[in-house]
Amino acid sequence: MKKQTIRDIDWQGKRALVRVDFNVPLDDQQQITDDTRITAAVPTIQYLLDHGASVVLMSHLGRPKNKVVDKLRLDPVARRLGDLLSREVKKVGETTGAEAEQAAQSLQSGDVLLLENTRFDAREEKNDDSMAQELAKLGDVYVNDAFGAAHRAHASTEGVAKHLPAVAGLLLEKELEYIGGAIEDPQRPFVTVIGGAKISDKIGVIENLLGKVDALLIGGGMANTFLLAQGHKVGDSLVEQESVDVAKDLLQKAADRNVKLLLPVDVVLADAFDNNANTQIVAADAVPDGWRILDIGPESVEQYSAVIKDAKTVIWNGPMGVFEMPKFAEGTRAIAQAMADSAATTIIGGGDSVAAVEQMHLADRMSHISTGGGASLELLEGKELPGVAALKDQ
Ligand code: ADP
Ligand code: MG
Repeated sequence: MKKQTIRDIDWQGKRALVRVDFNVPLDDQQQITDDTRITAAVPTIQYLLDHGASVVLMSHLGRPKNKVVDKLRLDPVARRLGDLLSREVKKVGETTGAEAEQAAQSLQSGDVLLLENTRFDAREEKNDDSMAQELAKLGDVYVNDAFGAAHRAHASTEGVAKHLPAVAGLLLEKELEYIGGAIEDPQRPFVTVIGGAKISDKIGVIENLLGKVDALLIGGGMANTFLLAQGHKVGDSLVEQESVDVAKDLLQKAADRNVKLLLPVDVVLADAFDNNANTQIVAADAVPDGWRILDIGPESVEQYSAVIKDAKTVIWNGPMGVFEMPKFAEGTRAIAQAMADSAATTIIGGGDSVAAVEQMHLADRMSHISTGGGASLELLEGKELPGVAALKDQ
């Protein structure tokens, strides 16, 4: 990795100001329903504590829309983190200001302090430099470990890095090594599986990857627009008429570059968007009127699985069908299984794709599950993330 990390700093007696992604789901009692994001930040925090630092943590949570929302305070997060670290995590009720400064200054080596939700402050999302400067007063060195927020140029993710020595945390490093590494220097064959609802969300990803992959396997709702571009009828399926020309162009580019681009050869049809709908499996060029495509079919699964089996690197973004409904989850499940069984380096990016793999209990059989949906997409599009660009070069 081309950026300095926490391993490049002598932490003894220093205060680390660490941006983490503690944007966890809460129920209506403010109980944390999934603490994956907190656990994912523990290695960096533990490393800093083990090396003699004190730690000041900052994160956003939810969408408070630039004002204090009591239900989005980070106190439940502080308690859960304290349990995970087996030590006290102090918490202040503001993100910057006199109380936060006082609390940060009184930290001893080994102490942990959590600041209040960064998005309570209207200056955060504007990347206002006055907020960045106030944050910078709270630490000696800035650490970005919030991969899930690294595609945003906010005061706590990018602005603050201008005012302190700034390095990557271990989670951010791991995400960049897996996703960035796969894109820049993949073990071949390099295969990408792309799905999800809309082609328009992923055009940038497909364009960028067409120049890098050996094979592109397409499923999900977006495949419908490609089928239309090939002149097939897709009945009542989700399509983006305005993207048909883009799909044609992508098919042409794939052909020109000798990239194997696979579209579903068969599909699961339903007569309504409903798990209790009537279903049938037909060839992808034989979709009757009045039916809609909600999953890829078994023949497609077989073809895609064979490509995945022979791959050395596989990146997957976007479910193959409406996996939230059991009747249309089989394509997604089978592709997840093929990846789990493959000897390739397997990487899952995208919020819904990660949810699908977890739902199928296959997460621990993948090489890497990304903690950032939006950020992983931007990496796949070949973009530099502002929260990474701002860090010190090696
Ligand atoms: P990710 O979050 O992994 O990037 P997306 O957000 O792009 O994935 O897409 C996920 C959504 O796509 C899921 O909610 C799924 O139901 C939907 N989807 C997949 N296939 C179809 C389809 N054939 N028709 C309609 N929606 C689909
Ligand atoms: Mg999604």
